[in-house]
Amino acid sequence: MRTPEITRRQRCRRTGALALAALAACTGPRSALHVQPPPPIPSPCVDAHACSDTVAVTYLGVDGFLIRRGTSVVMTSPLFTHRGMFATVFNFTFRSDTAGIERALTTLGVRGDLKDVSTILAGHSHYDHLLDVPYIAHTYLRAGAQVLGSPSMKHILAGDPGALRHALAIPADDVGTHERVGKWIYAADGQSRVMALASSHAPNWWKLTLAPGTVDADRRSLPRSVWGWKLGEVYAYIVDFIRADSTPEFRFFFQDAVSEPKYNALPPFTRRDVHQVDLAIVCAGNSSKAPNYPSVMLRNLQPARVIVGHWDDFFAPWSLDPDVVARTNTKQLERRLNEYVRGRWVTPLPGTVMRFAFSVGG
Ligand SMILES: [Zn+2]
Repeated sequence: MRTPEITRRQRCRRTGALALAALAACTGPRSALHVQPPPPIPSPCVDAHACSDTVAVTYLGVDGFLIRRGTSVVMTSPLFTHRGMFATVFNFTFRSDTAGIERALTTLGVRGDLKDVSTILAGHSHYDHLLDVPYIAHTYLRAGAQVLGSPSMKHILAGDPGALRHALAIPADDVGTHERVGKWIYAADGQSRVMALASSHAPNWWKLTLAPGTVDADRRSLPRSVWGWKLGEVYAYIVDFIRADSTPEFRFFFQDAVSEPKYNALPPFTRRDVHQVDLAIVCAGNSSKAPNYPSVMLRNLQPARVIVGHWDDFFAPWSLDPDVVARTNTKQLERRLNEYVRGRWVTPLPGTVMRFAFSVGG
């Protein structure tokens, strides 16, 4: 059962009590994001695990998703290790909570999905996107599965040999922009491909970005404070589940940071690479910190459907029923989503499975 939503005043008072009153501001109501399990989307398939015409998307919380077509899963980097804002910002020793990860995986019932993961996507290397990836990679990924991200990501993961085995750094020359098509990276199982897109990361507070900069040499161990998980190069991704002839069958866009408008467009795809964006996963946290986010992106990408991710409070214990992360302008985000994708966007609770039917013929 969902707990009653706390009032705006209570939320502000609690945020202030988190010791960073100077940094905190009022947070919009969760109700503006219409957080709920969505109604099922009609499909001839009943069980998405056995079907070719449905993509099933499971939300893991923060910005973790499992996106499955048939027997293949693409994952976006999750965060199950939650600590309070004070300990986070003030540099307390900070490690992945492996027992907490296992508890969350049990609660979500997704261990079976992890065995089918071909790719984990990390858009940047802040702790809330990468801290738990090494444990998941070396514990659950099968041989050949890849963790895709920036050169900085790979230098950080060098601190964990089990995770480094899976890490693939995407160099700048392979990254797409609105003027240039990047390089497709194909999954070992032949079911999907990924193109990184140049992107950016809005400031966390005022004009300040947490742990900025890149990591330019291999680490010998994983960082032990959030300041070691440096931002690195920032990517968004286009992911295609593909047919046997490598043409796209289902395309989704993913980004785990709010980006400047100049990054919110697709590369100039031609011929066999042209395909509608069936799904876009956008970022709620800090959404008011970049101009017109996500309006410009939605206008350019024209996605059929939108999922709002990274909306939940990762300074509170991991939960199936989280509050909105502090300082998210939920009302503004709601207005902008409704302007472009009214009735076609959803904000999932952790554990929600959303199914998206698509046409097998194209
Ligand atoms: Zn970040």
